[in-house]
Amino acid sequence: MPSPAPIPTRRSSRASSNAVVDAAAADVLPNRRTTIAKQPPDLHLLEYLKTPDSNLVCLICHSPFDKPVQLFCGHFFCRDCLDHAWLNQPEGRKTCPTCRSRIDPDKDTRPVPKIIETMLDELVVKCPHSKSGCGWVEQRVNVHDHVMLYCDYTLVECAQRDCRLHISQKDFHKGCLHYTVSCEDCHVSMMKKDLEVCCYLSALYLMAYIVNVGPPANRLCQPVDQLPSL
Ligand SMILES: [Zn+2]
Ligand SMILES: [Zn+2]
Ligand SMILES: [Zn+2]
Ligand SMILES: [Zn+2]
Ligand SMILES: [Zn+2]
Repeated sequence: MPSPAPIPTRRSSRASSNAVVDAAAADVLPNRRTTIAKQPPDLHLLEYLKTPDSNLVCLICHSPFDKPVQLFCGHFFCRDCLDHAWLNQPEGRKTCPTCRSRIDPDKDTRPVPKIIETMLDELVVKCPHSKSGCGWVEQRVNVHDHVMLYCDYTLVECAQRDCRLHISQKDFHKGCLHYTVSCEDCHVSMMKKDLEVCCYLSALYLMAYIVNVGPPANRLCQPVDQLPSL
């Protein structure tokens, strides 16, 4: 019997972290290696630690630019926002969404100045999975690698062959956690995959609740996304 391929240590290189998923997947489901796809982060949904400089904010989506382009009139937009705005404008009649200057998309768009790219890269963001418990906070330039390679909370497809649901990377090796259980402490019913998160986060949440609101009238242990925000 051939010995299994060694599992690379996490963070040893960019390439090996993907291999961690593949090796783990191969043990459980030889036929589904290719289906363990992760969603890259949507930059438009990121939470920024500080209010970004208004010069870095797209006037279409009101978020800091994602892959920005500059029009000859001097206005900047996210590539996707611009393409979306131009969808309904016929060829030869495209205009700048801000100043309405006539634009030839082939000649009149160019990359934004390097300083803008650098300022966007350096904006500090939270991990998109912060509500699930990830405490990662870093420069935006690193968020893609964090989510795709390192974040324990990135969703992957459940290891069980007939289950089509998703599970956090960190729980992948535990097998299918998509069944209902009742929390021993508070007797709230929830999916097994949420129970650990619920009880862990509830303790932190409870402290914040007491500080901000006062002692709670009812137990607060429930799935994270149903807790009232403080
Ligand atoms: Zn935009
Ligand atoms: Zn313009
Ligand atoms: Zn994360
Ligand atoms: Zn499952
Ligand atoms: Zn509980």
